[in-house]
Amino acid sequence: MKKIGAIIVAVSVSILVFLLVYDAVQIKTATTEFFSMNTFISAKVEGINAAEDIKEIKSTVEELDTRLLSRTADTSLIFKLNQNGEITVDPEFAAQLALLADVSKQSGGAFDFTLGAVSDLWNFGGTPAVPEKKKIADALLHSGIEKLEISETSVKKSDGSLTVDLGASGKGIALDYVKSYLDSGRCEKAVVSVGGSVLLYGKGEFSVGIRNPFGDSSSSIATLKLKGGCISTSGTYEQSFEENGKLYHHILNPETGYPVENGLVSVTVISESGLLSDALSTACFVLGTEDGIKLAESYGAQAIFITADKTVYTCGSIENSLKLTDSDYSFAEG
Ligand code: AMP
Ligand code: MG
Repeated sequence: MKKIGAIIVAVSVSILVFLLVYDAVQIKTATTEFFSMNTFISAKVEGINAAEDIKEIKSTVEELDTRLLSRTADTSLIFKLNQNGEITVDPEFAAQLALLADVSKQSGGAFDFTLGAVSDLWNFGGTPAVPEKKKIADALLHSGIEKLEISETSVKKSDGSLTVDLGASGKGIALDYVKSYLDSGRCEKAVVSVGGSVLLYGKGEFSVGIRNPFGDSSSSIATLKLKGGCISTSGTYEQSFEENGKLYHHILNPETGYPVENGLVSVTVISESGLLSDALSTACFVLGTEDGIKLAESYGAQAIFITADKTVYTCGSIENSLKLTDSDYSFAEG
């Protein structure tokens, strides 16, 4: 009898241990949605530490905003740079700013993260209105990447009124920080969306919808199959308003200080780097299709340009993995 009792106890203990171990190694899924960096953020993670990963993703993005990127939080380095004219930076942030300056140069100034004074006048984040011409001209005098001195340890403005605005690249930078966190853990797969920038992380294939520039956020015009990476879209629909029957959107031509008018309604860029996908989507939008394609290719990125007349241009061999699902849209000839 004693023997049977011992066997029952041993079997029960084994089952319990198995269940505990099984639970510990089981792949789990966790999701989150929150608001940070002035935008909506969502994340879905698969892995044995999914719940922990989700918490870390949230704190990584929030910390990045308050420590580095925010224009309004007085704790951030960008806020301090705008206020005080000089900041000390770590090598990682210095390298990111140097890469942004490179995109600015390579795009012939089309990408300009010193346009904050002009963006403020348009006030797209608040109650936007067309600013006075003279005010735009004055604000433009206080912009230009050459007025920033970026070294490996510091960033300095030579114009006190210049305002740095990382609105066109911050969301992509956030994806790079999230990716380095995920690389250090045991995440199997993740999709993290920060505004118009999305990180596709892990093994397997991802299917992504390309947003309908004239529809709501759930409507798409094409599906793109990708093995992973970062994908960012700049679109006129993101922030815009109408005044006297004319549409004004938030992507500005640094030469004029007015919204870019080149027939494009959206540009999507795919790159391993979130910083590059985000910065290049804005840069390519400003440059237009022809020069935009050259710029994207020079960084080894892939891109999709959509014009107001619903023509789709691509570069970097992406056409093979892009399937148009809306018959109003067609690929450009040739
Ligand atoms: P995105 O949605 O990534 O294209 O970023 C657009 C945001 O970047 C705008 O809301 C502005 O804050 C800022 N911005 C506007 N025009 C430019 C430009 N030409 N270069 C860099 N940043 C810009
Ligand atoms: Mg961008």
